[in-house]
Amino acid sequence: MSTNRYSRSVARVRPVFKMPTIAAVVLFCAVGAPSVAWGFGLWSTDTTSGADRFTDILNRPDDTATWNKTTITYKFDGTFNLAFEHPDLQQQIRWAFSSWDRAFGRSYGQTYSYNRTPGWQPVGDIRSIAVHEIGHVLGLRHPEAAASRDRNWRPGEDGYVASPPIGGEVMQHIFLPGSTNHEPSHDELDGFHYLYSQDLNFQEVTGFDTADILIKGYLAGAQEWAWGEWWGENRVANDNSQGQHITSAEIKFNVQSTPFIGYTAMALNWDYKNNAGKPTRSIRLDTTGTNVAPLSHHSNQGSGNNPHRFLHYSSSGGGPDFKDDVILEWSDPMSGDIPDTERIHVGLKEDVHDWYVRSAEIGHPDGTSTMAAMMSMHVWGERITSETPPPDPPEGGLRQQEDTSNSASGFRIVAPNVTSMVSQLSFAIVTDLNLDLDDLNRETMEMLDALGRLEHVTAFDPMQIEANEDFVVVLEGTQGDLPPELIQQGNYLILNRPDLLIEEVFVYVQSEANQATIGNYALLNESPITAIPEPATLALLGIGGLAMLRRRRK
Ligand SMILES: [Zn+2]
Repeated sequence: MSTNRYSRSVARVRPVFKMPTIAAVVLFCAVGAPSVAWGFGLWSTDTTSGADRFTDILNRPDDTATWNKTTITYKFDGTFNLAFEHPDLQQQIRWAFSSWDRAFGRSYGQTYSYNRTPGWQPVGDIRSIAVHEIGHVLGLRHPEAAASRDRNWRPGEDGYVASPPIGGEVMQHIFLPGSTNHEPSHDELDGFHYLYSQDLNFQEVTGFDTADILIKGYLAGAQEWAWGEWWGENRVANDNSQGQHITSAEIKFNVQSTPFIGYTAMALNWDYKNNAGKPTRSIRLDTTGTNVAPLSHHSNQGSGNNPHRFLHYSSSGGGPDFKDDVILEWSDPMSGDIPDTERIHVGLKEDVHDWYVRSAEIGHPDGTSTMAAMMSMHVWGERITSETPPPDPPEGGLRQQEDTSNSASGFRIVAPNVTSMVSQLSFAIVTDLNLDLDDLNRETMEMLDALGRLEHVTAFDPMQIEANEDFVVVLEGTQGDLPPELIQQGNYLILNRPDLLIEEVFVYVQSEANQATIGNYALLNESPITAIPEPATLALLGIGGLAMLRRRRK
């Protein structure tokens, strides 16, 4: 017996407006994620009233949908490649599969979830969306919907208990532009372990080979990100209580969502100058925000012939408690230890818009090391939602809740794990210059200055930023628009320069700690890498969509 199942998915996105909506309230409340698991929902064959194919673990524990193979293949369809033609977009999806590939043996770690919901950004993060959809075609459902049927499960002391979700899960049904969620939370790991008793491997196939999971592009409404769908057959013929084997699946990405699906990269570059007479042998950075190796790196090569360029560069993961961290190491300078008289340049470009440096350790030839004040700058946004309930409606009337909220936007300057003296904030609009990681340096800044394009922020006084703290430069919004914590701490500067939010901006700030001076360079607001829905693609997808409708009606 063969049956069809479908999984309507994901992530309804908020429209591009900056005014908060109910969805924003939900996510705002979800920011403080707990350190315990809150449950998962599963696909079942139970179509009885109220069950809606959510598994009743207590009474029908085997009524699930799983693959009965350990190597699951996937393939990019022409409809995906046409719209998402940038090769880095395919790579993001491979990395999404990697997150599930390592799920079985993955240590839970201290962090419940790696969900980040900063302010709105003009992109739906493709890797986060893919991690969610892959979860669907492995047998997982939305925890909120499961909870509404008392079928969202978490392991309790005496077996599973129904439990409401609290947000932050990869499988939650709302996902916002600008957010990131690349790692299964404790809940998805629980669900995965319930469904699978052995490691799963995901393998890409190409050409004429058939695949278990097809990755496609499709057309849908502006607020829908993607769709995961699977087909299966009963494990035991005519016995729905034993669930199904999944035999094939499709994951489709909307090519005309608003904003588009893709990702935003950000580049930071630093020049380090030791003032204590200490040469440098190596540099080690811990960055957080993404769990894959940087898209590119700068290794003190200068224009390519620097005799002190680092010959060795490596990246590695941050460990079970830091699943969104990457550790980078530069070592083995070509002509031996780099003298203190030289400025040393290293830089990174990573695949999220809000990554930053947790720590920067400089290794010296005498075996000692010092922590460096390598600052990070990244775009920042805050939605403030009034928690005041609407006033009672006047008699006989009905009042709409007045929106008392505003958003503020700008960028953060983040200190690593060392208290840093920061001074000299400057920036320039560089949208027309096509700058990249290797251009983020003093020479470019001097060039911009000579052209009269560099703006020095005179209102920015030299200041100390405590270890692991930040300072916010507000480009749009007034003090009343800022979150209370920020106002209380006073670590912000309002510039009222909303024009900078829609331009690529070169930002420079100087920092000092442990007898070293650092020039910090950032390129903010780089255009996201997204789908390119050209007319030919849309026409092709339109035809594909019709074919799909016909098949569903069979
Ligand atoms: Zn979904």
